[in-house]
Amino acid sequence: MFRLARTFAMFLSLGGVIASNFFWIRSYRVAGDQVSWLRGSARYTLRSKFGRLTVLGPPNVTRPKEASEWLAKISNDDFRWDVVAWRMENDTFHLTIPCAGGLEGSSMQVEAALIRQPKRVGIQLMLEALEDPRRFIAAHLWLTRQVFPDTAKVESGSADTNPMVCNFNSLRVEVKPPTLPSPAKIRADEEHGERKSVLHLACRPEDVRIDLSQLPAIRRQWHDRFDEPIFSIPYWVPVCIFMVFPIAWIARRWRRSRLVSRRRAGLCLNCGYDLRASSDCCSECGKPIDTSAAEVIRYQKREIQNHG
Ligand SMILES: [Zn+2]
Repeated sequence: MFRLARTFAMFLSLGGVIASNFFWIRSYRVAGDQVSWLRGSARYTLRSKFGRLTVLGPPNVTRPKEASEWLAKISNDDFRWDVVAWRMENDTFHLTIPCAGGLEGSSMQVEAALIRQPKRVGIQLMLEALEDPRRFIAAHLWLTRQVFPDTAKVESGSADTNPMVCNFNSLRVEVKPPTLPSPAKIRADEEHGERKSVLHLACRPEDVRIDLSQLPAIRRQWHDRFDEPIFSIPYWVPVCIFMVFPIAWIARRWRRSRLVSRRRAGLCLNCGYDLRASSDCCSECGKPIDTSAAEVIRYQKREIQNHG
């Protein structure tokens, strides 16, 4: 039973050596080998990259006690999308989505409260909000603003397609263009004021469509950017640990085969000295000579027990 367990452990370690080496080589060739899991509400990631295994997690920062209250207030519904209509010479309009929309309602209050906090508090909170399909768009906006304070830099959509498609920092948004005022209405308005060349039009929530299946990719994008390493080891460490069992196994095999060959060649089982000139004891190590088969078997058994 013990032997069986030992053999099993040996093959398990051998598998460990092979697997560690496989992932070690792979870590240089394949970028982005990783698994992630949730602990509580925080997401952690095990990443294999450039010969190292690293555990990453959200910023480890003490959050204020209002944090869970804020988290509950963040909502996708507070995200506002604006369309900007540029008026052309012939009174037609060119539509763009500048992504300069913002957060409204309770999410805006959270945004204002976070300004007074260290940035890592907000990042920790928003990474958590990314877990929830009802909050992830608002979290995506907040995080985008940390990276691009001027959100107009983010690629925007145009009216060449219907619905208009906007790539908001990798989040694909489809917007049904709002109805534009008629030329007659514009002219009527202008009789009292100056010519307006740019119109800002708020989109109705029902005209904005965001596919929620984008959530995992968006979440990963932010974790890649803001996660911090918690623990990291180079691959040679697990390789060495897994090597212990197979090396012990080979050593045991070698000892056993040496014993058998000494017995066949008429050498001392203990030290390998030639016993042909000796009678009672080995003249090298002093061990009594007993060449009966029973003694060899006893000796082998003892060896196995001693060296496990
Ligand atoms: Zn000897």
